[in-house]
Amino acid sequence: MLDQSNELAAWDRDHFFHPSTHMGTHARGESPTRIMAGGEGVTVWDNNGRKSIDAFAGLYCVNVGYGRQKISDAIATQAKNLAYYHAYVGHGTEASITLAKMIIDRAPKGMSRVYFGLSGSDANETNIKLIWYYNNVLGRPEKKKIISRWRGYHGSGVMTGSLTGLDLFHNAFDLPRAPILHTEAPYYFRRVDRSMSEEQFSQHCADKLEEMILAEGPETVAAFIGEPILGTGGIVPPPAGYWEKIQAVLKKYDVLLVADEVVTGFGRLGTMFGSDHYGMKPDLITIAKGLTSAYAPLSGVIVADKMWQVLVQGSDKLGSLGHGWTYSAHPICVAAGVANLELIDEMDLVRNAGETGVYFRAELAKAVGGHKHVGEVRGDGMLAAVEFVKDRDDRVFFDASLKIGPQIATALAASGVIGRAMPQGDILGFAPPLCLTREEADIVVAKTADAVNSVFANL
Ligand code: PLP
Repeated sequence: MLDQSNELAAWDRDHFFHPSTHMGTHARGESPTRIMAGGEGVTVWDNNGRKSIDAFAGLYCVNVGYGRQKISDAIATQAKNLAYYHAYVGHGTEASITLAKMIIDRAPKGMSRVYFGLSGSDANETNIKLIWYYNNVLGRPEKKKIISRWRGYHGSGVMTGSLTGLDLFHNAFDLPRAPILHTEAPYYFRRVDRSMSEEQFSQHCADKLEEMILAEGPETVAAFIGEPILGTGGIVPPPAGYWEKIQAVLKKYDVLLVADEVVTGFGRLGTMFGSDHYGMKPDLITIAKGLTSAYAPLSGVIVADKMWQVLVQGSDKLGSLGHGWTYSAHPICVAAGVANLELIDEMDLVRNAGETGVYFRAELAKAVGGHKHVGEVRGDGMLAAVEFVKDRDDRVFFDASLKIGPQIATALAASGVIGRAMPQGDILGFAPPLCLTREEADIVVAKTADAVNSVFANL
């Protein structure tokens, strides 16, 4: 896999500062460089012509699959007609307006407006500012704290990296920053008191949240942010009753709910939004990834009518909203978004995500669920994870230094299937394009079983 002789690989090691990469091993050529060249459906290939099934859809984002001409044509047409115009002071393009309307038509009830950004991180940054602005307009300047969860992932900027509840994204960056707090992760498999039922554990999470709000003072707590299903923290579905119990606490203390649907928005759970899937009633929804299937960078914040009314009062009092990016609602990106959402409907991908997702997880559980080092096979919709343990009866975890998860992901990649070693714990994650077929799922499952067996055989 190492391609030391290749000139591009040398330039890569010498000049390209990769995100989320071990800088030392990469620069020294001890870890692989893979130069990607093309893709079609669920398959990608590199510049050596080596093909892989991408069972993580890039970074759970290429939802419609690779090589969709409808989207590349829309991008090319927009680039020729008008590559750029800004969206400040009431400007737009046909595509930006159309896409906003398409999103609201698909969004949970009660949502009213869409603000466009470029990444999930910047959209969550916008959320934080809107939450603070909202409470200032309402005359509650103390109500500013935002509660996130350990193992949540909400980006890697200063404030959004603070919202994220994973050590890797905090270490040596002086994060998290105030006024961000973290509460219990909804991770039933890793619960401390193993006698708890799922419902009891959900109640425990809600109680912990309530304790935190009371300890901080409800008048200081503005919002709670969560992914409908934990993603980068381990692909962990909420335990039974979780969102109902959490929302009851938020309502009691007048705390806003932000649903971070960067992964779940636009079909991944077999519903257009994860909020509908789990009965969440958010005030703000973060979207990105599946909005354009990553054919162009685009994110958004969907604002509930209740908040929108206050924002309008705000500008009537204070003047124009002092927030925006040069590239907000970039014409090329929104054109990609319109074509992508049309394609999701035309290909019936939301239904396929639900149906093939169930099949995929069931086959995965049959193939590896009985292995003595598999603690749990879990997921929802077109999301799945296998968590590895040293001892499944006593639920003892492996020492992180053994890097079991990464070893299995590497063995799997060598066999032509891309999964993802999730960053905290020995967890192999899958988030295939929503167009995955049962035949492709069978290949992913068979290769996963081989990779698991081969890594543990050599342990
Ligand atoms: N929120 C969630 C739930 C995510 O999974 C991610 C990225 O994986 C983000 C936010 C950040 O998005 P980006 O990497 O586009 O900044």
